[in-house]
Amino acid sequence: MAQCVLAVEAFLVTAVVVYTTRLFRRDKRHLDGDLGTVVPPTPTGKRGGVLIAQEGDRWTLTLIAHFVPAAGEDIEAFRPFAALLPSRDIEDVLRTAEPIGEAMSARFPASIRRRYERLQRFPEGLVVIGDAICSFNPIYGQGMSVAALEAEALGAVVTEARTRIGLRFFRAAARIVDTPWTTAVESDLRMAEAVGPRSAIGNAINAYVARLQQAAHTDPVLAVRFMRITNLLAHPLSMFAPALMWRVLKGAVARKLRSLNASPVAGEATVSATGLGH
Ligand SMILES: Cc1cc2nc3c(=O)[nH]c(=O)nc-3n(C[C@H](O)[C@H](O)[C@H](O)COP(=O)(O)OP(=O)(O)OC[C@H]3O[C@@H](n4cnc5c(N)ncnc54)[C@H](O)[C@@H]3O)c2cc1C
Repeated sequence: MAQCVLAVEAFLVTAVVVYTTRLFRRDKRHLDGDLGTVVPPTPTGKRGGVLIAQEGDRWTLTLIAHFVPAAGEDIEAFRPFAALLPSRDIEDVLRTAEPIGEAMSARFPASIRRRYERLQRFPEGLVVIGDAICSFNPIYGQGMSVAALEAEALGAVVTEARTRIGLRFFRAAARIVDTPWTTAVESDLRMAEAVGPRSAIGNAINAYVARLQQAAHTDPVLAVRFMRITNLLAHPLSMFAPALMWRVLKGAVARKLRSLNASPVAGEATVSATGLGH
């Protein structure tokens, strides 16, 4: 049998993510009737949670550990983990929500991109697609969208060409993967523990994105643009539109002013510390 040996370049950025997921009974009063909440892990907290309403009055709760020990599947481990999140929402729901069934864990060690488009030859009649080309840290929720876009691109290639299908498709797939790969790994490289190539530009972009996310807490225009970018509906460069940069700057200034107003002056701190302020 003839053998075909292909040397495919691969790039890896460690992610070390563990999802621990469990269903809970949903009460309409939870989250004041909202259908879900997302608390992403940050470089300091490294823990997150996603709570989403399901059919049959249930919640799906996923606790996310990013470079820290996982939540643990025991229900008693869920509550202390949720208490470490920067928002109280999930912890509050767990206080009263009844667990259903057992927890399940999923581990994701690293994002990997294989550069099939750099090959000079590839066997006819075969293609590689989806996660086999590139698998991203699932925190960013891009894998299925990318796989669907690649399927669409493969359809276009086989409609137009009869030969070199694999190589033509890999070039189209690389264009689809470029942006989500860059946004996912640059975001992961904010974590001190992540191993991968860092760049000054990547660090600068991450600093801007962090400020954009903080401003988006109270600015719905920034929040919607950010969601559109992460769901591949808008190009990441669109977050650098002057009007948006202005909103990010305004948000940073407002936060700074709030923090200055909230800081106690030295005298007040002393009174409080000695218990005389009450
Ligand atoms: C924990 C986790 C959470 C995720 N969350 C999201 C999310 O919220 N949003 C999102 O867009 N993406 C998410 N993803 C990514 C998404 O699941 C993948 O990007 C997507 O499923 C890739 O599709 P695929 O067809 O390439 O691979 P898969 O969906 O993995 O399909 C590959 C199939 O091949 C089968 N298979 C493997 N080996 C063989 C074999 N030798 N013979 C026969 N069959 C075989 C497997 O059983 C599997 O059914 C998540 C991934 C993980 C791990």
